[in-house]
Amino acid sequence: MPELPEVETVRGELEPLLAGRTLHRVEILDERLTRPFDPAAVARELEGERVAAVERRGKYLLLRFESGRVLLVHLRMTGGFRSLPASHGRAVVTLDDESVVVYRDVRRFGTWLLLEPDEVDAYLAERIGEEPLGPRFTAKQLAARLAGRRAPIKALLLDQRIVAGLGNIYADEALWYARVHPLRPGGELGPDEIRAIVRGARRALRVGIERRGATLSDYATPNGDRGTMQEEFKVYGRTGEPCPRCGTPIAKTRAGGRGTHYCPRCQR
Ligand SMILES: [Zn+2]
Repeated sequence: MPELPEVETVRGELEPLLAGRTLHRVEILDERLTRPFDPAAVARELEGERVAAVERRGKYLLLRFESGRVLLVHLRMTGGFRSLPASHGRAVVTLDDESVVVYRDVRRFGTWLLLEPDEVDAYLAERIGEEPLGPRFTAKQLAARLAGRRAPIKALLLDQRIVAGLGNIYADEALWYARVHPLRPGGELGPDEIRAIVRGARRALRVGIERRGATLSDYATPNGDRGTMQEEFKVYGRTGEPCPRCGTPIAKTRAGGRGTHYCPRCQR
């Protein structure tokens, strides 16, 4: 599933394709994409909108139009855009310069939601917390969110309202950098550990963005490139392989229902 670095990579490639362009023709071929709204009605609403910017909040892509409306795209498991002809196309957007952008999604969990200008902020505020690479994601702010919480820190980091954009890969990597055991209850972590988690999350995400995301299955960028973050994994998916810091075999457990990788020696 695309996490913050993968979505940011997609955003970076979509922006030059879409910014300043008008959506000339929109075909939505999959009714699940806009459910519960009628895909043909959404497509008609989108036609004629001019893209002001392509932004990201957490794992959401925001196509911000000059009208103030926003098309909020969540890629979920396998959603993505291509500027090339693509199989599994769920929507096809023809721009005013006749270029075509295809939205494809093999497993069809992705969503498109068109929001009116006055709906955008409230919609996002209800669903996602601070941007981990932004100035407001601090140890103090994270400590306040974790206070009194008995769930494992790994599960809490996956909660998009606590921190936006982390998923299973980058949460595991962040906790390895921070040297914090993934099953530690969030509310029992000390200030130094919380500071280390903030730094670890930022580091894992920055490496992910530099490597243009991880390519594990179906993910590719709009230009068809594939990220190489998987070559940088310290713990994720490396069960039994040596910890890059101490050589101890990486262990696997479960937290919040998700497979969780950690070093039993470095992360206590
Ligand atoms: Zn280790």
